[in-house]
Amino acid sequence: MNLPKLSKNRYKTKELLRDHTTFKIGGQAQVWYEPKDKEELSRFLKYADDSLLLFVIGSGSNLLAKDGLIKKVFIHLNTPDFLDIKISGTKISAGAGAKIGRLISVLNSKDLGGYEFLAGIPGTVGGALVMNAGAKNDHRDASSYREMKDIVLSVEVLDRHGRLLKLKKDEIEFSYRNSSLKAYVIVSAELELFRADKKSVQERIKNNLINRMGCQDWQYPSAGSFFRNPEGVVAAGKLIDLCGLKGLVVGGAKVSDKHANFIVNVRGAKSRDVLKLMEIVKKTVYNRFKIELNPEVEIVS
Ligand SMILES: Cc1cc2nc3c(=O)[nH]c(=O)nc-3n(C[C@H](O)[C@H](O)[C@H](O)COP(=O)(O)OP(=O)(O)OC[C@H]3O[C@@H](n4cnc5c(N)ncnc54)[C@H](O)[C@@H]3O)c2cc1C
Repeated sequence: MNLPKLSKNRYKTKELLRDHTTFKIGGQAQVWYEPKDKEELSRFLKYADDSLLLFVIGSGSNLLAKDGLIKKVFIHLNTPDFLDIKISGTKISAGAGAKIGRLISVLNSKDLGGYEFLAGIPGTVGGALVMNAGAKNDHRDASSYREMKDIVLSVEVLDRHGRLLKLKKDEIEFSYRNSSLKAYVIVSAELELFRADKKSVQERIKNNLINRMGCQDWQYPSAGSFFRNPEGVVAAGKLIDLCGLKGLVVGGAKVSDKHANFIVNVRGAKSRDVLKLMEIVKKTVYNRFKIELNPEVEIVS
C-alpha cells in the first residue's frame, strides 16, 4: 500500500478489528491510522492516492467486519483534537470521535434537553450523524421519536482531498439510518438543544436506559438491531419472531432469545457465522411474508 508520508510513522498494521467493534468480530485492518489532529488528517487525505480504500471507524457499533485481512486504511478519530465537547448556552460543539456516553455525561449537569434519545446508543458523534441515529426521547411516547437530524445545526467535514468544509443542516440529506455525510470524514459538529429542567431530563435518561436493558440484549456482544425495519410494515424483529427464529444458532452467532432483531455473538462468532445466520433469517422471513429484510448493520470487507 502506498501511504502518504507523515512526520512520524503513525500507521499501525494488522490491527484486530474485533477489538474495535461492539460485535467483537472481525479480522485484521491492513492499516490503522489515528490522526494526530485535523491538520494532519487533512494532509493525509490530500496526499492519499485515489486508489487507497479508506474507512472511518467510530465505536464500531454498527459494523460487521469480515474475517481475515481487510485491505483498507481504517481512520479512527481518537486523539484530543477530535474528542472535545464545548457547551455555549443551548449550542454544543462536539468532536466527531467523542463517545455518545461521554456527551451525555457532560450534558447531564446542565439544564438542557432534547438529547435523551441518545442514552444507550454506544456510538460516537460522527457515527451517530452518518447513521442518523434515532430512538424515542421518552420511551413511553412513540411521538417523541428523535434522530440526529433533529439536533444538528452544522457539521465540519474533510472531503476526500483534505478540504475542510462546513455543511449546514439543510445541505445534508438525512434519512432512516442514513445520510449524505458518508462521503466525508466528519471532524466535528454543532448541535442545538433546548432549555429544560435537568432533574426531569435525568429521570427520562434513566428510564430510557432501564427500558433498553429490559428489551434489548445487552448480555452478549452485538451491533444492535441487525435488520432495517421494512417501510410501512411490521418491525423486522416482529417478523423474525413470528417465524420462530429466536434462539437459532450458527457457529458462535445466535438470534437473541430476548430481541429477535439482535444477532448476538455468544461464543467467539466469526463473521461468516453471522452472515450465514443472516441469510437463513432473510430467506425464512421472505418465504413466509414475501418481505425482503436488509441489514442495517454495515458489512465491512
Ligand atoms: C446495543 C446497541 C444498541 C443500539 N441502539 C441504537 C439505537 O437505539 N438507535 C440507533 O440509531 N442505533 C443504535 N445502535 C447502532 C449504533 O450504535 C449507531 O448506528 C451508532 O450511531 C454508530 O456509531 P459508531 O461510532 O459506532 O459508528 P461505526 O459503527 O463505527 O460506523 C458506522 C458508519 O459511520 C461511519 N463513520 C463513523 N464515524 C465517522 C466519521 N467521523 N466520519 C465519517 N464517517 C464516519 C462509518 O464509516 C460507518 O459507515 C445500537 C448499537 C448497539 C450495539
